[in-house]
Amino acid sequence: MKNIIFLGAPGSGKGTHTNMLVNQFGYITISTGDLLRNITAGNTELGQKIKNIMVSGELVSDEIMLELIEKELESIEGKPFILDGFPRNLAQAEALSTLLGKKNIDYQAIYLDVLENTCKERIVGRLVCKCGKPYNLFTPDLRPKKDGICDVCGSALIKRDDDNEESFKKRYEVFIKNTEPIKVYYEELGKLKIIDANQTETRTRNDIHEEIIGVIND
Ligand code: AMP
Repeated sequence: MKNIIFLGAPGSGKGTHTNMLVNQFGYITISTGDLLRNITAGNTELGQKIKNIMVSGELVSDEIMLELIEKELESIEGKPFILDGFPRNLAQAEALSTLLGKKNIDYQAIYLDVLENTCKERIVGRLVCKCGKPYNLFTPDLRPKKDGICDVCGSALIKRDDDNEESFKKRYEVFIKNTEPIKVYYEELGKLKIIDANQTETRTRNDIHEEIIGVIND
């Protein structure tokens, strides 16, 4: 099974497709956003600093991110993984190549291409659960059966502090600015596949999922 690096705007479906692949193939998820939220949950000075950066929609420093990702890659001991939310800029992409190269780990970068307005709608309506199951109040088949409660584990669903229109605007701007160089970088390495991840009447989430599977089985 190929290791996957998911690239895409906030709301492009990285988390949803990661969740589907984890359920089907048992991948390990490395979500840098989740790792950071674990840090912000503790009441420390560093946690508060990171929380402020996240709500503002800016990026946390490369130094902190690289330390986190290195530790995480160490802990999964060679098992197949999906990177969700890393790299977020060219410096991170280059540092990741060095890390993976040292360990002889191969990967496929997959860019989920979704229209900005769709991303915004998904982010504003999103609720998350600590078990990883994604929900969306504006998408009929992603609404929880019971208001505010996870269908899978019964925990209370959470609205992220940065899932509002204002934070989205900044996050999207930061994403556009930093992602083009990453795309060029992986393209030149021959490691990039772009997938149209817009859902339409004739293109369902499952169709997109199947296309992703096609790429990782290639
Ligand atoms: P996410 O859960 O991936 O949407 O990330 C939420 C926020 O965490 C981002 O808006 C950033 O502030 C921060 N973050 C997550 N991953 C990274 C990263 N690789 N580099 C810098 N900041 C990150």
